Amino acid sequence: MQNADTAAALLRASTLPVLEARILLGHVLGWRRTELITRSDEPLGAALIERYRALEARRLAGEPVAQLVGAREFFGLEFDVTPHVLIPRPETELLVETALEALEGLKKPRVLDLGTGTGAIAVAIASARPDAQVWAVDRSSEALAVAVRNAGKLLDAARPGGAPVFWEGDWYDALNASEALHFDVIVSNPPYIASGDPHLSQGDLRFEPRGALTDEADGLSAIRAIVSGAPAWLAPRGVLWMEHGYDQAQAVRTLLEDRSFGEVRSACDLAGIERISGGRRAAT
Ligand code: GLN
Repeated sequence: MQNADTAAALLRASTLPVLEARILLGHVLGWRRTELITRSDEPLGAALIERYRALEARRLAGEPVAQLVGAREFFGLEFDVTPHVLIPRPETELLVETALEALEGLKKPRVLDLGTGTGAIAVAIASARPDAQVWAVDRSSEALAVAVRNAGKLLDAARPGGAPVFWEGDWYDALNASEALHFDVIVSNPPYIASGDPHLSQGDLRFEPRGALTDEADGLSAIRAIVSGAPAWLAPRGVLWMEHGYDQAQAVRTLLEDRSFGEVRSACDLAGIERISGGRRAAT
């Protein structure tokens, strides 16, 4: 007997990719993935089915799954997501891993995340390095509210590095110069898509904040601002790492070299694309 009102039937009938349908249904039912299997033949109430169908329709109309369920996993942590923030991407975990390598051997290091959005990078680093002091900047107050919530939810309140400090503003302008701070590591996943790039009007990107995706210019203007301001905010031998587009690695390395960074290099994401570039401030 096939019931039309079971999880199994809903998943079978869905025209969504099965993984997406499972995430949406699991969200509506409050079930884990295994429950979608073990309880797949339980009859479901009409209200739940209606809620699932509504989400399914919105997904079919293009809304990102992470926004529909309000969450996305990044670096093993579940981040709240709203339409005000970039949805964390798996390739950005490379930036976190590289920053963590740069922090090895440093005690109570200071880290700055520029354009933090969900707070994914800052919070992932703070979670993996409880002794790190972390600052994070965003010019969007709505994004900062999400980042603050994620930090509060995901980090141990008693972590030795203290709670991350969030500042609103444009790149380094957000920092309070009177504090005379210097960072061991600066990281950023800035808007790096050029204004005319057709991807901006395709897929999930249509629903994400445009200011998190594009600089409304050639795709490198945010990176230029970050590289150019970095030496003043880095400790001697501090490092800067940024995520960038698939074809921007050479341009970003040149920007770093022109600003006298040493040890300039790029690293490839799991797809084999040069996805991040960075370098080290000179010792003096
Ligand atoms: N990686 C994102 C994308 O191409 C862009 C993120 C960004 O601009 N920082 O979808």
